[in-house]
This record gives sequence, structure tokens and C-alpha cells, in this order.
Amino acid sequence: MTLRKRAVVIGAGFGGLALAIRLQAGGYQVTVLEKRDKPGGRAYVYEDQGFTFDAGPTVITDPSALEELFALAGRPMADYVELLPVTPFYRLCWEDAPPFDYLNDQAALERQIGERNPGDVEGYRQFLAYSRAVFEEGYVKLGTVPFLTIRDMVAAGPQLAKLQAWRSVYSMVSRFIKDEHLRQAFSFHSLLVGGNPFETSSIYTLIHALERQWGVWFPRGGTGALVQGMVRLFEDLGGTLELNAEVARVEVHDGRVSAVRLEDGRVFNADALASNADVVHTYERLLGHEPRGVSQAKSLKSKRFSMSLFVIYFGLNKVPDNLQHHTVCFGPRYRELINEIFKHDALADDFSLYLHAPCVTDPSLAPPGCSAHYVLAPVPHLGNAPIDWTVEGPRYRDRILEYLEEHYIPGLRKNLVTSRFFTPLDFRDELNAHLGSAFSLEPILTQSAWFRPHNRDAVLPNLYLVGAGTHPGAGVPGVVGSAKATAKLMLE
Ligand SMILES: Cc1cc2nc3c(=O)[nH]c(=O)nc-3n(C[C@H](O)[C@H](O)[C@H](O)COP(=O)(O)OP(=O)(O)OC[C@H]3O[C@@H](n4cnc5c(N)ncnc54)[C@H](O)[C@@H]3O)c2cc1C
Repeated sequence: MTLRKRAVVIGAGFGGLALAIRLQAGGYQVTVLEKRDKPGGRAYVYEDQGFTFDAGPTVITDPSALEELFALAGRPMADYVELLPVTPFYRLCWEDAPPFDYLNDQAALERQIGERNPGDVEGYRQFLAYSRAVFEEGYVKLGTVPFLTIRDMVAAGPQLAKLQAWRSVYSMVSRFIKDEHLRQAFSFHSLLVGGNPFETSSIYTLIHALERQWGVWFPRGGTGALVQGMVRLFEDLGGTLELNAEVARVEVHDGRVSAVRLEDGRVFNADALASNADVVHTYERLLGHEPRGVSQAKSLKSKRFSMSLFVIYFGLNKVPDNLQHHTVCFGPRYRELINEIFKHDALADDFSLYLHAPCVTDPSLAPPGCSAHYVLAPVPHLGNAPIDWTVEGPRYRDRILEYLEEHYIPGLRKNLVTSRFFTPLDFRDELNAHLGSAFSLEPILTQSAWFRPHNRDAVLPNLYLVGAGTHPGAGVPGVVGSAKATAKLMLE
């Protein structure tokens, strides 16, 4: 009998689970060690009084990347989870302009664009063509390729130069589209993966083409049902998931990772180790006793990190009228507010919000006649604004709920059944996220591809990384893509 090689994966986020499935299907014996009491990471699930709240990702794009995981294990995805189409993809709302339904229908899009600024219809067509070219190059060709050497980066250089990747998302959108609200409508997407549209590379305009290509989906039962489907697939393949298993230390012998030690003292030996935990946490805390851990943590901490988020989960004893599944609520300021979120040391007085109303697609997430929601506001990370969220949290919650009640959900507070919130301190303490960042390293050009932490460590040859802090980056398609890149290296 040949013994399978043992792989340990630290963390059961989307990246960790996708990698664990690939490795288990590829011949490793895999154990996933997860700190919390449920899998999912940022896609954790809260349940309260019959309400189900997905904590994080709700916009599921590129279902083909998920289907691939089930297919490589020879199982139909439909046996594990059902994806429901969402339309419109988002409703975009402003205080000073009519709403815009962002959907996958060229004629309906062009009609709405034409109503705002007829000249932008042709501009939008050109933007879509540009976005599709970036999507082909940046996502289809390079999204799952591990960038281990500078040669990999140089090889991609000419194409990146041709696509003007040094420009920002907003500047590229503005080349094609003149109306300010439409510029916001086609540039806000990079915020979904932690990128400032005014500084993130125009490569991230590919998100538009990606959504147009495959649509926007939502799992029946919530994003948590997709996490559960992936866990079940992994366990059906023979893998083991250990919950309440916080890794405290990575053991290194003769220049190789040999084992991990948990906070509770248990030890898991490993032929190969992949960390889905935060990259700074991995090097600073788990490998801080090794020269490699010290030097890598120092270098990573000098980089720029994405903003954090303030998220309120709330259940209502009614179903609000006229809400779409996903609503982006733009505040009065766009550029200035984003600048303050990424650079300032205090909370702005205004906010832009994302409002989730999943019962529009799946009413089973709340008791009959009720509805589950979350609303999030991007906020500075703790390195920029060391806000005491234990004090500011309740105040900020009240301000946001009041604003929502005034603009989107009349009677919200009188119909409130349950609520809880998650702050930058929780990102730091619950998820071990450096500075409480919601998306890890900021996705600017000089922190992308080869410039991002590599999928395999350069010094410890059997240490691998997977998830938002590595290539290609945050977002469900990003981290599932990172799992493919990392698995390629581990299985070769
Ligand atoms: C509120 C919110 C909304 C979002 N919405 C979307 C969306 O709609 N669509 C989209 O595509 N993306 C969205 N994102 C981004 C997306 O959720 C993340 O980029 C992605 O889920 C991160 O996955 P990951 O694999 O990096 O792991 P994570 O989810 O970060 O999981 C890492 C895991 O490691 C565990 N861990 C950490 N330290 C240890 C340790 N020492 N020992 C054991 N375990 C440890 C953590 O507990 C965690 O479970 C959203 C993010 C947030 C926060």
C-alpha cells in the first residue's frame, strides 16, 4: 500500500476549502484546521431566531470556477448546492439621481445609459470591449497562474502595458464614459475586492466583463450553503476538517515545515503546509520564531492594506417593499469619501453602503413574513484610524440604521427583531486579519501578481499560501483561483 502524502491547510475560508478539495482529489491526505466553530472564514454564518445571516460574500460570480472543483472530483455540483440567478445584478442608488439597474441585458443597459447621457452609450460599448480584453488577459490567462519569478511578470508585461494597466479603474472608465453617476456605476466594483477605484489598476475593470460573462448568482440557503457543499465534497473525498482548531505555531526542521501545533497543544505532522490564514499572521505569529517568519512579516507589514468594513446584520418582522437583492447606496460624495476611507485617520460624517436583501431570492433565510439583511460601510483599517470600535460601533450602527430608514426601509427600527455588528476589531481578533483589513493587501499594481506574496514560499519549500493575500487576490473567484494556482505547485 502506498501512503498518501499528508497536507495540512490552515483556515477554512473559500481559498482553503477549494485548495483542500483539489489536494484531496489529487492524492494528498488533507486535514483542514480552522480556528472558529464553523467553516467559511469571511463567509461565516450567523443564525438567530430563525434568521440566517451570511457574514460576508453574497455576490457569487464565475460559477464555472466552483463547478470545476466538483467536476475534478467527478461529482455534479447540483448534488451539493444549487445556484440561483440574481437580476438585476445590483440596483445602484444615489441621493440626487434616479436608480440604475445594473444587469446583463445590453439593450436595457444602453437604454438606461442613454437616458442619462446619450453620448455614453457608445462609450459604454467601448468600455465593455476594453473590459473583455482585460478579462481575457488578466483573468482567463493569468488568474490561476502562480507568479513565482520575475520572469513570469516580465512575460506578462507587454500585454499589461498594452492594456494600460498603470491607469486606475476610475481613470480608465472616465476615458469612455462622461456622466459622473455612470462613472461611479462602472468603477465601484474594485471596492468589492478591497481596491480603491482611484488607485487600483485598471486590470480590475475585468470584474465588469466577468459579471457580464457568467452572471451573478446566489446559493439557495445562502452563501453558507455553498460553504457547506464544499465541506461535504471535501469530506466525501476522504478529507478531514477540524473546527475549533487554532494553529499557534508552525514547526520547521532542516529548512522544511514539519508540523503545526495548535493552541490546545495538539500537533499535526505535515509533508506540506498551506496557510489560508492572513499572510502577516502566518509569518509573524505562526512563524515568528524563524528568521524567515521575521523577515517576511517585516516586509509584508511595510505594504499597503485594504480598508476594513463595518457590517450590521439585522432581521425585520416584515419584508420591505421595492428592495432588490443587492443595492449599492452611494452617498453624496464619491472620490472624497473613498479617499478618506483609504487614507484618513477618522470616520467620515457621510457613508456609502451596500445593502443585502437575500430574501428577495430565497425567502427561506427568514421566518415567514420576515426578512434577513445586512448592510456594510467601508471604513478605514486600524492602522490608519485607530478608532475604539467598542465605543464608536453602537453609535455608527445607529447612524446607519437611521439613514437606511430614511432612504430605503421605512419603519426599519420599529420592525427590528434582531441585530448584531462586526467591526474592524472583529476582523483583527476573530479572523486574525492584519490591521483589521477586510481584504488583505490592497490590490494596487505594485502589490499584484509577482509583487503579491507568492503561492509558494521562496525559502521554506513545502510552505504554500492560498487566499486573499496571495495571487490573484481577494473575492471568491480570486481566492478560488489562488487555490488552483497553489494546487498546481503542490501537485506538480
Ligand atoms: C463583508 C464582506 C463581504 C464580501 N462580499 C463579497 C462578495 O459579495 N463577493 C465576493 O466575491 N467576495 C466578497 N468578499 C471578499 C471575500 O469574502 C474574501 O476575499 C474571501 O472570502 C476570502 O477568502 P480566503 O480564502 O482568503 O479566506 P478567509 O475567508 O479570510 O478565511 C481564512 C480562515 O482562516 C482562519 N484562521 C485564521 N488564523 C487561523 C489560525 N491561526 N488557525 C486556524 N485557522 C485560522 C480564519 O478563522 C478563517 O476562517 C467580501 C468580504 C467581506 C468581509
